[in-house]
Amino acid sequence: MNLSSSALEILKARYLRPNETPEDMFRRVAKAVSLAELYYSSPSIAEEWEEKFYKVMVNLEFLPNSPTLMNAGTELGQLAACFVLPVEDSIEGIFDTVSLMAKIQKTGGGTGFSFSNLRPKGDKVKSTNGVASGPVSFMRVFDCVTDSIKQGGKRRGANMGVLSVYHPDIEEFITCKRDKRSFLNFNISVACSDEFFEKVERDENLDLINPRDGKVWRKVKAKDLLRLIAESAWDCGDPGILYIDEINRHNPTPSLGRIEATNPCGEVPLLPYEECNLGSINLSRVIKDGKVDWEKLSYLVEVGIRFLDNVIDVNVYPDWRIEKMAKGNRKIGLGIMGWAEFLIRLGIPYDSERALLMAEKVMSFINKKAFETSVKLARERGSFPNVDKSIYRGKPIRNATRTSIAPTGTISMIAGTTPSIEPLFAVAYEKKVLDNKKVVYVEPLFMEYAKNLSEAEIEKILEEGTVKNIDNLPEEVRRIFVTALEIPPEWHIKMQAAFQKYVDNAVSKTINLPEDITVEEIEKIFIMGFKEKLKGITVFRQGSKQGVIEFGVKKK
Ligand code: UDP
Repeated sequence: MNLSSSALEILKARYLRPNETPEDMFRRVAKAVSLAELYYSSPSIAEEWEEKFYKVMVNLEFLPNSPTLMNAGTELGQLAACFVLPVEDSIEGIFDTVSLMAKIQKTGGGTGFSFSNLRPKGDKVKSTNGVASGPVSFMRVFDCVTDSIKQGGKRRGANMGVLSVYHPDIEEFITCKRDKRSFLNFNISVACSDEFFEKVERDENLDLINPRDGKVWRKVKAKDLLRLIAESAWDCGDPGILYIDEINRHNPTPSLGRIEATNPCGEVPLLPYEECNLGSINLSRVIKDGKVDWEKLSYLVEVGIRFLDNVIDVNVYPDWRIEKMAKGNRKIGLGIMGWAEFLIRLGIPYDSERALLMAEKVMSFINKKAFETSVKLARERGSFPNVDKSIYRGKPIRNATRTSIAPTGTISMIAGTTPSIEPLFAVAYEKKVLDNKKVVYVEPLFMEYAKNLSEAEIEKILEEGTVKNIDNLPEEVRRIFVTALEIPPEWHIKMQAAFQKYVDNAVSKTINLPEDITVEEIEKIFIMGFKEKLKGITVFRQGSKQGVIEFGVKKK
C-alpha cells in the first residue's frame, strides 16, 4: 500500500492490532462489515461485497470513521463515531448518562448532550430542600469523567454541550470556556431559534424560561446575548451556534421527538440515544485525465452506502436504547474528504464561483445517488422500521439520513489528502499529532511548483504558510494554493452553505478568521450563517487558542 509515513505512524499507534499490517486491518474491517450480507443473502454474495469493501479502502477511495477501522472484527465491536444522549433533570438521570458516556468514549465514540432540560442555578430542589447547581456545574462532571476515560480509551474523548438560548443560565454557559482551562473536552454550542435572530434584528427582549415549570425567569436583550456569544467566540473559539429550527425543519422523524443536540463536531444532529456511523469518499481519487470521474464517484457512493448500512447490523451497541434507535432509524452519514485537493487538481480556486458550483454539482450528485442506493437497499432488505413515523411515510427507503460531512481529522491523514471540505490551511506547516508530537509538513501538491523556486522563496513560504507573496509563481498557481486565512469568512460560509443544500445531516466546517477580526464582524458571520440556512457554525480566530496546526514552521 502507498501510505505516507505519518499515516503509518497513526495506524501503528492506535488502529492496528498486534502483528497487523494496514492491509490486514482493511481485510478485517471488510470481512466484519460484509457479514451483514448473510442476514439478507448468501455467503457468496457476502464474499463479493467483502472484496469490494476491501478494494475501496485499500485504494484509499473510501474510509469509514475511526471507530469502525479500530473496532470492526474485534472484541469491542463498537463502530459508530457519533452519539447523542439525553440529560434528564434528575440526579439519577444525569449519572446514568455519565456512565453511558464513559462506556461510549472507551470505544472511540464522541458524545453530544443538550443540557437545556436541567433546572437553572439557584432553582429549588424539592427532595432535599436545597438549591440546584445548574447545567454548567453538571457539565463539569461530564468533563472530568472524560478526562479519566481518555487515559485508557482509544482516542481523546470528545463532547458537544448544547444549551438553549432561552435557558436562564445561558450567560454562564456562553462564557464557561473563557478561562481557556475549563471544559477542554467539550465543544459548546448555543441552540438559537429563528425567533432569537428575529429579536436581534428588531432589538427586542428574549424571555429566559425555567425548563422545570415553563415560567419566565427573567428577560434579556437578544442583541446582548448575540454580542456575548460573539465576544466569547472571538476570545476562545467557543461557543458555536446551532441553528436549531433549521435543524428541526429537516428532522426526518419529527414524530419521534425534537432534535436538541449534535455530535461533537456538529455534522450529525441526533435525537437522544441516536447514533450515526460515518464514512467518507476521497474526492482526490475521483479525477481522471484532469476531469471528474462521475462513474467512479457513483460506484463509490453505492459501495459506501451499502457499507454503512451493513455497519448498523454488525455493530455491537453500548446500550439497548441506542440499539433500538439505531436500528429503528438506520441513520448513516456518507460524506467526502479531499475537497481542497480535488479543486487544486482541477485548477479551481477555493474562493471562487466555479468552486461553489462544483460543490453543488458534486454534492447533489452524491446525495441523489445515496438516496437511490438507499431505496434500492429498501427493496432488498426493507425500509427502516420507523419509516411510517417519518417524512418518507409510504415510500421505500432504508435509511432516515444518508449523507453528512465529517471533519475526517484522522482518516484524511490516513488517506493522505486534505480534510473534509476545508481549504488548505497552509502550504507548509507544523501539525501536532498523537500526544503532542510535532510533524513538519509541506503540501505535497505544491512540490512540483516548489522545484522551480529559489531557496529564499521556499524559506518565505515556510515562514508565512502561504504562496501569495511569491512573485515568481504564475497568478493562477497562487490562486489555486489559496489558504484558509486568506479566504474571506463569507467564502467559508458560502462553501459550507453550498454543501449543506445537498446534505441530509449537517456539515462540519471551521470558519477560519484572521487574528484582527472584530466582535461585530463575528456577529455578522453568525447572522449570515442563519440567512444561508446552515445548521451550525463554528469560528476559529487565529491565535485565540492553541490550535492543532500552527505556522509558519520557521518561528518554532
Ligand atoms: N470524534 C471523537 N474523538 C475524536 C475525534 C472525533 O469522538 O478525537 C468523533 C466526533 O463525534 C466527530 C466524529 O468522531 O464528530 C468524526 O470526526 P472525524 O471525521 O474527525 O473522525 P475520523 O474518522 O477522521 O477519526
